[in-house]
Amino acid sequence: MTTTDNLGGSDVTTYADRKPLPYEIDADKEKDNRDAQWERVRARLRAEFGDAAFKTWLEPIAFLGVRGGDVRLGAPSRFLRDWVAPRYGDRIRAAWRLEDPDVLDVEIAVRERTEAKPATVAEAPVAAPAAPVKLKTTEFHGTDLTAQLDPRFTFENFVVGKPNEFAHAAAHRVAESATVPFNPLFIYGGVGLGKTHLMHAIAWHIAQRSPDRKVIYLSAEKFMHQFIRALRFKDTVSFKEQFRSVDVLMIDDVQFISGKDSTQEEFFHTFNALVDQGHQIVVTGDRSPSDLDGMEERMRSRLGWGLVAEVHATNYELRLSILHSKAEQLGRGTIPQKVLEFVAHRISSNIRELEGALNRLVAHADFSGGPITLETAQEVLHDLLRANNRRITIEEIQKKVAEYYNIRLNDIVSQRRARVVARPRQVAMYLAKQLTSRSLPEIGRKFGGRDHTTVMHAVKKIEQLRNSDATFAEDVELLRRVLES
Ligand code: ADP
Ligand code: MG
Repeated sequence: MTTTDNLGGSDVTTYADRKPLPYEIDADKEKDNRDAQWERVRARLRAEFGDAAFKTWLEPIAFLGVRGGDVRLGAPSRFLRDWVAPRYGDRIRAAWRLEDPDVLDVEIAVRERTEAKPATVAEAPVAAPAAPVKLKTTEFHGTDLTAQLDPRFTFENFVVGKPNEFAHAAAHRVAESATVPFNPLFIYGGVGLGKTHLMHAIAWHIAQRSPDRKVIYLSAEKFMHQFIRALRFKDTVSFKEQFRSVDVLMIDDVQFISGKDSTQEEFFHTFNALVDQGHQIVVTGDRSPSDLDGMEERMRSRLGWGLVAEVHATNYELRLSILHSKAEQLGRGTIPQKVLEFVAHRISSNIRELEGALNRLVAHADFSGGPITLETAQEVLHDLLRANNRRITIEEIQKKVAEYYNIRLNDIVSQRRARVVARPRQVAMYLAKQLTSRSLPEIGRKFGGRDHTTVMHAVKKIEQLRNSDATFAEDVELLRRVLES
């Protein structure tokens, strides 16, 4: 991911035998083609992040063109750009790659705002970044391996409460310590609960206090891309060297490595080498090491060797303190307490959404010029409030699916294997995976104590059927809508 302010090396090195991009042949056709691709990319992002986040952050982004394998996008404000690039950049790039494997990187520029189309989000004062500290960059084939760190993700800006105090203390300890207190530190929890924030905070802290220590922070996804590229260049040796010479290696969202055998293997070796040499490793994941499906047993157990800290779902107190702190940072200390309490009560999913809600309120107030009241909050946050109202449970899914297929609820969790019950059961497992945040092992347990591989198989099977059988796909879609309504 690059932004125009910070043109690091492109993310993937061009290789000589690249086939010519279509626009090098026919510019007009190319344009239509690209616009259609952009529409599909947008649809994917919308599905992935949900309507609310999409509307607030991604909809205002415009497609400007493709040049030399770089997709160029425009944001209506610097604020929006700085918000979108670190959070959504990797996913935007991944979505583009699905459209066109020749896309190497995505670049977001700040465009002048036009009169006709006001930006959705106003330029808002962002908390002053910590003293400018620079991380050492680590290059591999001209690519900066260190991902961009968000200047706002510091310990100073991290609000501590019961749900995250243990993870915070552990992260702080790692950042402060000249030696290795526990290895690895594994932080896990649901999306938007502060895992990445804590990792960046460790990196900033170390960069400030001990600038000589070499820190690498990168997503597991990027680690994978880099490794695959090293394989292509037949250059895995120097790839390994890069990682093995760091003092602190941080890998974010390790669940993305699951199932990719060669990458897992490499990660495992790098991991062991670093641990043996007494270097610190910090890893985050969306579930505990033992629940990482698709990860080799030895890797799972190794990940659990050090300290495992969970960031728990938020509680009301934490949400309210976070709102206070963010409102202050935005220079909006004047938002009525009643409104903050209302939002803290009602937006309980995660901190990212909480922040999104606050930003939306502030943006709305700026555009309308009116005060922020309970009524405006209810109106402006309408869709978020609705989504937060509905927590779909596995039990509900089982019930609805049983009703729909006209089988007994008991059959869904029973061991019966007849097709008439086995297929609906798979549908229910599939929906449980899609509509709840439960892990595969948890889902398996709720379905009569089945193994997580059974759930994984069900998910794959249903995906397959959805693609090959339109009627079946409609059934599933209908069930999804009923459950979500
Ligand atoms: P995760 O990596 O767990 O999905 P992030 O670290 O990206 O979540 O956090 C999502 C958003 O919420 C970020 O903008 C982050 O700054 C904010 N956030 C999370 N936890 C806290 C906290 N305790 N205090 C302040 N902001 C937080
Ligand atoms: Mg994260």
